[in-house]
Amino acid sequence: MARWQYYLIGLLAALLIISVAALIQSISASNDRDTLYQVSAYDLLVNGSYGGRTTVGELKTHGDFGIGTYQGLDGEMIVLDGTAYQARSDGLVQAMGDTSLVPFAEVTYFNTDSVVDLSGEYNYSTLTVALADKLSAKDDFYAVRIHATFPYIKVRAPPAQHEPYPPIAEALKNQSVFELHNVTGTIVGYYTPAYAKGIGAPGFHFHFITDDRKAGGHVLDLDINNPGVMLDDTPRYDVDMASTA
Ligand SMILES: [Zn+2]
Repeated sequence: MARWQYYLIGLLAALLIISVAALIQSISASNDRDTLYQVSAYDLLVNGSYGGRTTVGELKTHGDFGIGTYQGLDGEMIVLDGTAYQARSDGLVQAMGDTSLVPFAEVTYFNTDSVVDLSGEYNYSTLTVALADKLSAKDDFYAVRIHATFPYIKVRAPPAQHEPYPPIAEALKNQSVFELHNVTGTIVGYYTPAYAKGIGAPGFHFHFITDDRKAGGHVLDLDINNPGVMLDDTPRYDVDMASTA
């Protein structure tokens, strides 16, 4: 073959490699949107591992929707539409900067895969029982999003802890509880299947933030009428101990 023919073959091979690499990248990017990304393990949090493992900025590269807490168990984290909020035990809710430290969190990119429309009045326990019944794949993790006006919702937030960190049961003895009436806002939550116990907390875990971003926390109880529940099936689960922050 002439030299130009070798050049042509080389060029075509390079183009093929580049296009295959681009295809793989686009496939993995779309897969990322169906991944639940978790920092740390739930049982570590329960046992007092409240030191920052990653940052809000890093967390936001893995999702725009999620829950968690901040360094020292300092309040509840709500990640909604790409902003990470902190609901504190003194009642303040604020947006957190990218350098804020995170000991535990779960995030994903929220895409609505299905909507469960329930009719009637529900409290926390009847809602979670009804929802569990509607999950199409009980072995999967789901992100759960409910935007509604709540006649009543009860949330909590723990105060910041100091080292040596106590276990969560001890820390929550000093939690603040807020009872809100006729508030409009969003529940940001997850469903964890039973087999993930220890790494996750089986069942539903809901946090809440009002539309005006002035109140929120970890949901203890609620009243809701005719809820429309958006579900994002996240079949991939990425657990990152991320202990380098
Ligand atoms: Zn919580």
